[in-house]
Amino acid sequence: MRFVLLGPPGAGKGTQAERLAKKYGIPHIATGDILRQSVKDRTKSGMLAKSYMDRGELVPDQILIGIIRDRLSSLDCSKGSILDGFPRTVTQADALSSILHRLNQKLDGAINLELPEEEVIARLSGRRVCRSCGTNYHTQFNPPKEGGKCDKCGGQLYQRDDDKEEAIQNRLKVYQRQTEPLIKYYKKEGLLISVDGAKEISTVFENLCEIVEGVKK
Ligand code: ADP
Ligand code: ADP
Ligand code: ZN
Repeated sequence: MRFVLLGPPGAGKGTQAERLAKKYGIPHIATGDILRQSVKDRTKSGMLAKSYMDRGELVPDQILIGIIRDRLSSLDCSKGSILDGFPRTVTQADALSSILHRLNQKLDGAINLELPEEEVIARLSGRRVCRSCGTNYHTQFNPPKEGGKCDKCGGQLYQRDDDKEEAIQNRLKVYQRQTEPLIKYYKKEGLLISVDGAKEISTVFENLCEIVEGVKK
């Protein structure tokens, strides 16, 4: 099974993709995580991406398309994957479609996690991320058992630079301008599935599992 998760920043893509990947045994491909790792490793694309990410802008399409092409070609993606944070532009969506075509693979759906703008701010401003394994928490909605520490690996939790007020506002504008058009794009392809992302984490997960089970082969 192969799905794209769409939705504004903070909609719960990372949280849900991680759970789906674990339950169905397929890779969770999060372009934000891949980019943050490249920044940490000071690779060429990481150095280039950093300034865009800090401002809440999108990193140029060609960098992302290269990352996804490599990742989807690896063997562990042959039976499926969950794409989180890609595509984010129509150019990326077109590239994804041709990459999958060449690999003789197809998308089963583009799941749009819907979340009103007011909720986005509350979600992002309380988000905390594990420095070691990347797991997401929320100070209020999904707190770790022990303050400041990851439940899974004991790593230290931190607040992303782009989860601070000024960057959040810009990311919302960027989302509306560049990513929201993908909702129409996938609707036209007959692949769009909408899910209410404002429900509790476990409820959203149940809804997603029903959808995924519907296409499981
Ligand atoms: P969120 O989970 O809040 O939606 P991500 O972790 O997915 O954010 O992405 C963080 C940042 O990484 C984005 O603001 C953008 O700068 C960059 N990024 C991630 N994925 C893409 C993409 N597909 N295209 C362009 N930039 C991307
Ligand atoms: P995205 O990847 O779409 O940017 P995340 O999965 O990182 O979103 O979630 C953003 C923040 O909201 C995180 O702090 C996460 O713990 C929290 N969160 C995710 N889903 C829910 C939910 N259904 N209800 C409340 N908080 C949530
Ligand atoms: Zn951790």
